[in-house]
Amino acid sequence: MPDYASFYRRSIDQREAFWAEQAALIDWQTPPVHILDYSRPPFARWFVGGTTNLCHNAVDRHLAQRGQQDALIAVSTETGSERCYSFAQLHAEVQTMAATLLSLGVHQGDRVLLYMPMVAEAVFAMLACARIGAVHSVVFGGFASVSLAGRIDDAEPVLIISADAGSRGGKLVPYKPLLDEAIARAGHKPARVLIVDRGLAPWARVPGRDEDYAEWRTRHANATVPCVWLDATHTSYTLYTSGTTGRPKGVQRDTGGYAVALAASMKHIFCAPQGDAAETFFSTSDIGWVVGHSYIVYGPLIAGMATILYEGLPTRPDAAVWWRLVEQYRVSVMFSAPTAVRVLKKHDPAALKRHDLSSLRALFLAGEPLDEPTARWISESLGRPVIDNYWQTESGWPILTVCNGVEKTPSRFGSPGKAVYGYEVKLLDENTGEELTEANQKGVLVIEGPLPPGCMQTVWRDDDRFVKTYWQSVPGKHVYNSFDWGIRDADGYFFILGRTDDVINVAGHRLGTREIEESLSSHAAVAEVAVVGVADALKGQVAMAFVVLKDSLQADTPSAALQLEGALMKVVDDSLGAVARPARVHFVGALPKTRSGKMLRRAIQAVSEGRDAGDLTTIEDPAALQQIRDAVGRGP
Ligand code: ATP
Ligand code: MG
Repeated sequence: MPDYASFYRRSIDQREAFWAEQAALIDWQTPPVHILDYSRPPFARWFVGGTTNLCHNAVDRHLAQRGQQDALIAVSTETGSERCYSFAQLHAEVQTMAATLLSLGVHQGDRVLLYMPMVAEAVFAMLACARIGAVHSVVFGGFASVSLAGRIDDAEPVLIISADAGSRGGKLVPYKPLLDEAIARAGHKPARVLIVDRGLAPWARVPGRDEDYAEWRTRHANATVPCVWLDATHTSYTLYTSGTTGRPKGVQRDTGGYAVALAASMKHIFCAPQGDAAETFFSTSDIGWVVGHSYIVYGPLIAGMATILYEGLPTRPDAAVWWRLVEQYRVSVMFSAPTAVRVLKKHDPAALKRHDLSSLRALFLAGEPLDEPTARWISESLGRPVIDNYWQTESGWPILTVCNGVEKTPSRFGSPGKAVYGYEVKLLDENTGEELTEANQKGVLVIEGPLPPGCMQTVWRDDDRFVKTYWQSVPGKHVYNSFDWGIRDADGYFFILGRTDDVINVAGHRLGTREIEESLSSHAAVAEVAVVGVADALKGQVAMAFVVLKDSLQADTPSAALQLEGALMKVVDDSLGAVARPARVHFVGALPKTRSGKMLRRAIQAVSEGRDAGDLTTIEDPAALQQIRDAVGRGP
């Protein structure tokens, strides 16, 4: 085994040789002529001249060795269905879907928008698009019609694939009426709409536009649709960022670079089995997010692993449901988010003990900061490595983590890990743009170009926004800005300190809200906390804390609340100093988050300052925002 330090160095110093080797992890129809074309920075074109196909690499190339092994395991605890598709069956379903797309007039390069619940047909549709060179644009099924309409106008799909309905926590979520409303609102009208009828809700057919997939599936049963060999730089999909910090950006991804990046990450980061062993990967994300694209659909399948697609809550029928799946399908690698782990911990921590988890090698968590108490609890309960990894929709795969597939590397609590091969990660002084080379200095986390394979090519139809937003926001530097704060310790482990717009300025002192949050969460009574900066006439800004208690009864009288508020302020005084002390600590029942579990600090801050909460299309629970309004005494 090589040591990670030299593996990493080679990925930067001998970039092309390194990625030429990684390119051998996938099948090419024509091998690449140039590994990298960076003649027009910051636009990196990887594997130029090569032709390949994502669907071929995810499905067809496994048929000979693994045709009868499980490929897709679609589980719904909402409808009580559980269905396994072997690679051979998946191959057949994808071709049937691809034949349908062709019949409905979808051509190479056309966009197909997916607005779907977590059903197997959604995966068939993504792979079918990849197969014929259509560009998929998956819109998270939780979005309402306004957000959907905006994305329809941006993507201009010729076809939209949707379903009659989904279900969440036993509650029916009708998709078709929301879609009809979105199309009515949108300026762009798709020529065709294909509905997967799950028999959950009746739906009205718009004649000449709407199609029932059941009819097409029968018509195209046993269809043969060969993979189209596509240029490595051909756009495979577009996907929007979560919109935590502002207007979502349409991230555009290529074909060859993405396939290579995922294949390499499955080997070096997720330690996928090499050879013909049958193993199962379980990512609890949603296909509407980047984790779903990379590590429900493409990554595991490219590595020849079975992948679980899960529709349902982590707590229904009980908090053991995910662990039941781990036992039943002998899951070896699991991927989830800190927010889900916190939910499980609150519900029934003993649920972990009920199932045989011996197949599980590691649990990966990403999407938001992994606080130490949560990390400790889950790693001690599982008795398995819990591996934090930091990345973005823009990158498509991890930027910071530990690469145990290269060299066994211990994790450190609070740190997602080291710079991943291919990423030249730096910390810069936000004012001067100067690189911070000493240990433990705090700066803006940036990546020196070119970005490695798999990362965004540009913002969909907006090269200018790509350049201006990401590459021109640090004074005097042309580097990719992550918009996150970080520090690096002497051993190269990074710590993420929050978003660059989450910094507050109290009487001239710059404080990261994340640091104050960490301090408050160290108090035993605290379950969750959000800290925002609120405008203050005297100090510029003050920190305002919103705390969810493990036991809400601890602050149920004014005097109890006051006492606890004092105790929490003291915790901050002791760990960070009085300057960081929140002006107020409010106790609330829940914190507003996006549908992907990210704290909506932007909205909390706006409401705390009595401003309009802004774009709330991604909010999970509007009632939580109302609690913030009530707490700060600002009416709706
Ligand atoms: P938008 O860019 O539209 O505001 P977003 O940044 O929330 O939305 P994503 O791409 O889904 O959209 O999230 C990436 C961000 O999530 C990172 O920039 C970082 O702030 C946070 N993040 C992801 N993983 C981690 C992690 N392991 N530790 C800390 N923060 C993380
Ligand atoms: Mg972002």
